Amino acid sequence: MNHGLFWASYFFAVGAAVGSFLNVVIYRLPVGESIVRPGSRCPVCKTPIKWYHNIPIASYFILRGKCAACHAPFSPRYMLVELLTALLFMACWARFGVGAPMFVFMTLIAALVAVFFIDLDHMIIPDVITLPGIPIGFVLGYFVLHIPFTDSLIGFLAGGGIFFVLAVLVPGGMGGGDIKFMAFIGALLGWKAALITIFLGSLIGAIGGVAGMLFFGKGRKIPFGPYLVLGVLIAVFWQREVIDLYFSLFVPGAP
Ligand SMILES: [Zn+2]
Repeated sequence: MNHGLFWASYFFAVGAAVGSFLNVVIYRLPVGESIVRPGSRCPVCKTPIKWYHNIPIASYFILRGKCAACHAPFSPRYMLVELLTALLFMACWARFGVGAPMFVFMTLIAALVAVFFIDLDHMIIPDVITLPGIPIGFVLGYFVLHIPFTDSLIGFLAGGGIFFVLAVLVPGGMGGGDIKFMAFIGALLGWKAALITIFLGSLIGAIGGVAGMLFFGKGRKIPFGPYLVLGVLIAVFWQREVIDLYFSLFVPGAP
């Protein structure tokens, strides 16, 4: 097996295992349950899931999406979270290569996947993720990603500040979770990535909002966090390209 194929499948498997853990985090963190104990159980019959029935992605297909004990159907979302995390980890390796920055981005991606689904389900972004993320973001941003400290500081202030002002101006529009999330992203990735995140998150959010109204009518309020997560992912993988595209479109005479 050549090296590329080995690393691609290795990080796919690592991502699938991390995704399996994220399912537990997504399910238990917002309701205040321990993410360590007890082990995974069937949500219907409470039978503990045996380790060989708990293999990321594969088990869903082997068991045909059903509990081995009571045959209650499992949501395909558990498998999709594992597959999504696996693909993102593989993409992270392909984009950054094996090294310290890759591990930082993989950790960020794990946090983003958790934030995406927790905000979708509960309309909250847990402080447990964003608040420790701010000081950790400053340290890893500076020492591993080589973001100048002033870039991180401006990112922290601007990322959190823009949403803080919006929250004051438009009551009920912006949650405290979004403010802390953007402060975290700004601290870790710097102000350019923070601005790209806010710009693209708002753009995708506006498109998503209109599409949602067209197809589903005025349904339930959709949280902003998942759109911000998409914005961060684009900023992580294509920051340079987004900046180049912006200048070529909107700044006359730019190279
Ligand atoms: Zn069961």
